[in-house]
Amino acid sequence: MTDFITRFAPSPTGHLHLGHAFSALTVFAAAQKAGGRFLLRIEDIDTIRCKPEFEEAIFEDLDWLGLEWEAPVRRQSEHFDAYRAGLERLKAMGVVYRCFKTRKEILEDIGRAPHHPGEGPEGVIYPGPAEPLSADAEAEKIAAGEPYAWRLSMAAVQQRLGDLSRLTFEETGEGPNGETGICAIQPDLIGDAILARKDIGTSYHLAVTLDDATQNISHVIRGQDLFFATTMHRILQALLDLPAAVYRHHDLLTGADGARFAKRDKAQTLRSLREAGAEAADIRQQLGFDW
Ligand code: GLU
Repeated sequence: MTDFITRFAPSPTGHLHLGHAFSALTVFAAAQKAGGRFLLRIEDIDTIRCKPEFEEAIFEDLDWLGLEWEAPVRRQSEHFDAYRAGLERLKAMGVVYRCFKTRKEILEDIGRAPHHPGEGPEGVIYPGPAEPLSADAEAEKIAAGEPYAWRLSMAAVQQRLGDLSRLTFEETGEGPNGETGICAIQPDLIGDAILARKDIGTSYHLAVTLDDATQNISHVIRGQDLFFATTMHRILQALLDLPAAVYRHHDLLTGADGARFAKRDKAQTLRSLREAGAEAADIRQQLGFDW
């Protein structure tokens, strides 16, 4: 039995493009090299943007590309209960709070914060409300049916876990600024992030952390755009007492114009390349995988 388990975890919000192919091949090749297991996970918590036809297309495109994965495939939309249970544990610890604010109000709060925290790699850094909502005001808003999201309070996390700079992860690839080896997390770049969105009751961070643990993922291999998300994942692992994987963030593939591929670049989807006559072997070779 190998202890190397890794995964490719696309969201079915569009067709896979060359950037996804590069990522999937990188993960698959790492599993092959290590004699390990390769899992595919469908990250479809956003039930509005995710579509069954895109999920079907993911299977088809990856199969065409020459990848093989284990069945059954974990589909996040089938595990909302597990994410809810994770959130309940965090609530019981007192590290999350209800946030009723609109995006506009959040930006106003940030504007008033003493050390304007600005924009981090994960978006605006919300330092938390200047004043916590009183129990009465909160009860009133709940009774009035006002929507809210659950945010992780970095202050409460710090209180519970102590010095967060002691929390590290092993990076065997490279972060966007050359970070590698044993890396300290960077909570200052994150702020009070949303752990359960108003509409879906969970978030990417919570679902991915719980799933990686449930699936015994030993090596998380993914694009550099998610390097800073690792800070959130390590914090959640520490709070929920989950094991830390080894991380490897790979370069993001860029097109001829130097821009990253995006789902809107229709011409570069695997599907349109295939329809235009490309062979899977050519794509693999173009991306640097020669089998
Ligand atoms: N589902 C995420 C994405 O589509 C990837 C999650 C991960 O690898 O941690 O970008």
